[in-house]
Amino acid sequence: MVKEEVIVNKRPQEKEYAGNIAREVLRDVREDTLSVQAITAMLATSYLGRRIIYKETTGSTNDDAKWLIGPAEQEGVPTGHAPESPAGTVARPVTGTVVIAEKQTGGKGRLGRRWESPAGGVFMSAILRPDISPDHAPLVAILAGYAVASAIRSLTGLQARLKWPNDVLVEGKKVCGILCEAVVVPVSPCRLTKEDDGDESTGHAIHPPYIICGIGINANQGEADFPEDIKKTASSIRMLRKRPVDRNALVAAVLNNLERALFRFEKTGLAGIRESLHGLWAFVGRQVVLQNRSSNDDSKTCGTFRGVDDGGRALIEVPGGETIAFSAGDLSLRPMA
Ligand code: ATP
Repeated sequence: MVKEEVIVNKRPQEKEYAGNIAREVLRDVREDTLSVQAITAMLATSYLGRRIIYKETTGSTNDDAKWLIGPAEQEGVPTGHAPESPAGTVARPVTGTVVIAEKQTGGKGRLGRRWESPAGGVFMSAILRPDISPDHAPLVAILAGYAVASAIRSLTGLQARLKWPNDVLVEGKKVCGILCEAVVVPVSPCRLTKEDDGDESTGHAIHPPYIICGIGINANQGEADFPEDIKKTASSIRMLRKRPVDRNALVAAVLNNLERALFRFEKTGLAGIRESLHGLWAFVGRQVVLQNRSSNDDSKTCGTFRGVDDGGRALIEVPGGETIAFSAGDLSLRPMA
């Protein structure tokens, strides 16, 4: 039977939070079960993860999160991230809700690719509604990657790196994939205001959209858990660290990092976390191939990877010395052999 659990919690005091983290770090990780209570005890967020929906098995946590978003939230929370309306009344606290599962049967990567989601990993989707322009929505994947890489580094000491645009690598192996999807919520045309920036003919509010931020982390799986075709490129924190990681502490650290990064991002864009991102990008200074992987285009660019600009674009120095900025779109970055 599928077990579901929903818990809404208040933010703990900072002192209490520090104590909980210390206890979790010391705790033996033999009992590797995801627990909403344990995650909540380590959260230092104001809205993100204050409502967690836990599932043992699901098709895709991104699809679950999409399903949760409905027109009702439009009444009380028109924009931004705080679950409380100015009058202090709580509408449906969808923004900040996190769906988490022990395994997924239909996990998704970019461009319809499959994300293998065997038990032992962390599969979660956060419903976000940052106050940013829709064209900045793809940058949320970079913030999420940063949140995951920082969490892995601080909890395990592994040198996690970001592979542009949406993966986290450790020792060159993929340990996390991120899929952010923008969701436009239909609103009845009579409720549209100028601020909604909506299209009255379709009745769609288009600004700001919800962003479902799906994060799949290979946490405590062993080699046998992965299918043959990804064994060479995938690994887990447990395999690389040679001992398991506390998945509850990992989830809490990711959410804490992500909320902080989103607040900074809303104020200053990616420039606000440029320093923190600096040094996390994989393949900087190396020869790379940037390839379009959509079926009707096989164009390639080769050059030296020079990092990522404040618009989230990959900077490639091509032969001749010119540096070109590429938006993610359907592009994949690979190091040259
Ligand atoms: P890109 O560089 O464009 O992101 P990608 O191949 O990494 O390319 P993603 O959409 O990020 O594409 O991830 C999906 C791919 O990741 C799958 O096609 C598969 O090769 C690989 N993959 C699937 N599940 C896992 C997993 N659990 N761990 C590591 N890699 C995986």
